[in-house]
Amino acid sequence: MADEKANQLEENLDLRDHRVIGRELDLFTFSDTVGKGLPLWTVRGTTFRRELERFIVDTELAWGYQHVMTPDIAKIELYEKSGHYPYYKETMYAPIKIDDEEFMLRPMTCPHHFELYLSKPRSYRELPMRIAELAKLYRYELSGVLSGLTRVRSFCLADAHIVCADEVQMKSEIKKALDLIDYIAGVFGLKMGENYSYRLSLGDRANKKKYYDNDVAWDRAEGVLSEVLKERKCDFVEAPDEAAFYGPKIDVQMKKISGVEETAFTVQYDFVMPKRFDLKYIDRDGSEKLALVVHRSSIGAIERSAAFLLEHFNGNLPLWLAPVQVSILPVSEKAIDYARTIQLQLKKDGVRVELADDAESLGKKIRNAEAMKIPYMLIVGEKEAESGQVSVRAHGSPSHEASAEQRQKDVGAMELSAFIEKIKKEIETKALPEG
Ligand SMILES: [Zn+2]
Repeated sequence: MADEKANQLEENLDLRDHRVIGRELDLFTFSDTVGKGLPLWTVRGTTFRRELERFIVDTELAWGYQHVMTPDIAKIELYEKSGHYPYYKETMYAPIKIDDEEFMLRPMTCPHHFELYLSKPRSYRELPMRIAELAKLYRYELSGVLSGLTRVRSFCLADAHIVCADEVQMKSEIKKALDLIDYIAGVFGLKMGENYSYRLSLGDRANKKKYYDNDVAWDRAEGVLSEVLKERKCDFVEAPDEAAFYGPKIDVQMKKISGVEETAFTVQYDFVMPKRFDLKYIDRDGSEKLALVVHRSSIGAIERSAAFLLEHFNGNLPLWLAPVQVSILPVSEKAIDYARTIQLQLKKDGVRVELADDAESLGKKIRNAEAMKIPYMLIVGEKEAESGQVSVRAHGSPSHEASAEQRQKDVGAMELSAFIEKIKKEIETKALPEG
């Protein structure tokens, strides 16, 4: 009996794997001809992803970030200047030769943002400067570790670099970055301590090869990060030897549906890059000073977060993220004209709507919409066409044979305008799916 239960649990877990959900809901695919670890997003998948990206950009703008765009490739010199080149060589793609110069597909965004910072003299008044980008990055991963959207060779990082004047600004910006992560996680219904936790990743002073050699700077940076975490009054674990080569970091560890923990976002303290890039600003007294930098992500790699959310919601995405929000199911040929009018109205109102105008039975249409996990179905027949109403069925409603109590999710007949108002509010408030 116990075995049976365990087997069933395992089977359910497999069904919640984002690779299975992605195939069934037609969200993304892979092609051997394109290459391993290079996802192709379908129309539905792209819609979901675009909503996610819009949310991140809009939220970051509201939180005082400045969004920029920088190229996917750069001269190898740039990564030599940043010091990434020797450290990340193994995970970078081979250089591309153009004319007499060598270029790399970028594995990170930092040096691009620093060069942008250097494009003109900066004043203390501009700091902290929060430079953000949805940056496409390329990293070589062994083919054995590639897995769906969680380990890919091309991904988009919601990245940012916050140039700060001093340690006081650093501390305040690190706090704000963690607040932003909390806010974004909260929109998805994820809770600190339950769905995610903090990890303080430290450097090993003895390992001079892996970490930049400056014991005093390491002590101070690690002190700031640990203070921030203690002030948040939350549990955190310390991970020795997990820091970046340029400084310690706070990792936000997400707990996947399988129970496995994964680093989803990081907030890093950097005292090395400002020196390498000579990131200076003119201070209040007219003197030139060296800045400090926070590297941070708000939602990590879009691909990995999309995979996490698909598994977390078991494919039942909140209405605002659902690729198709409403499916109109005409009962018969006679209701098609009315169904088209409704479709037009919903489209005008910015709702993502689909019309099931094929010759299938209503039962089959409902099963299809259920299988695609479309949040709302509008069943329309002659009766609805006459009264100007729609029969609303929410995804996951039991079949018509079910008892009245079980059928509570069946919203029932209502005016089209009332339905539009209801879903607009759900989209606007980013309401979470029930249950
Ligand atoms: Zn960075």
